[in-house]
Amino acid sequence: MDSEIGIIGGSGLYSLLENAEEVSVDTKYGSPSDKISVGTLAGVNVAFLPRHAKKHTIPPHKVPYRANIEALRKLGVKRIIATNAVGSLKPEYKPGFIALFDQFVNATNGRPDTFFDEGEVVHISSAEPYCPQLRSIAFDVGLKAGIAMHQSGTVVVINGPRFSTKAESRTFAAQGHHMVNMTQYPEIVLARERQMCYLGIALITDYDAGLEGRMDIKPVTNAEVVKIFGENVDKAKRIITDVVKSVPKDRTCSCSKSLEEAVMTHK
Ligand SMILES: [Zn+2]
Repeated sequence: MDSEIGIIGGSGLYSLLENAEEVSVDTKYGSPSDKISVGTLAGVNVAFLPRHAKKHTIPPHKVPYRANIEALRKLGVKRIIATNAVGSLKPEYKPGFIALFDQFVNATNGRPDTFFDEGEVVHISSAEPYCPQLRSIAFDVGLKAGIAMHQSGTVVVINGPRFSTKAESRTFAAQGHHMVNMTQYPEIVLARERQMCYLGIALITDYDAGLEGRMDIKPVTNAEVVKIFGENVDKAKRIITDVVKSVPKDRTCSCSKSLEEAVMTHK
């Protein structure tokens, strides 16, 4: 059963489908994070993969990003909806809010981040990496559901597994970025190299290393983080389900043409 929509669950989201069949998919880049659940959500065929494996055993720097995207592609996936826990760098990106990524800044290192290592030379455009069609639908369904959301935001992706120092956090905030995360890169660019649409749903969990100089913003406690996190996962599930329900079959975006004009190698 082919699934045109693939869902990658981040921290806190390890399963989503009922009556799903689990399939093992192998790729030339190795095995994905876990078995992929194939089933229906809101009556639509979808595939679900937990990024960190079901029991959360894979740290951000060891996620098999290429195998994950390739395995979903082999199942027929053309659109990806992913969730990511993020730390906020801006007061208005409040813990408990949802944000939709529209830009990323890569601060990771050493992660294989292309499918075009040999043979063809390809320079994919990353100017607008996130699917505008999916992002617009997600914002609409989120608003209708009464979820506090930001329609856009830049995520700086760090290698992890450690969190930022205060100085790093201050630097990222001064650079104008909104959120910090450890897993958006290279997942997003690999999806683009496979001409997939990608929607990144950010679950704002805390204020990264704190917001310096803002005495009105108290550091959150661990209990608050856990509570906010659980509520955010529920909001993300609602958004994912409503997006799956509302998305038209035809892709009106240019994501499916990302390789046009990107290949440098002469035929
Ligand atoms: Zn698209």
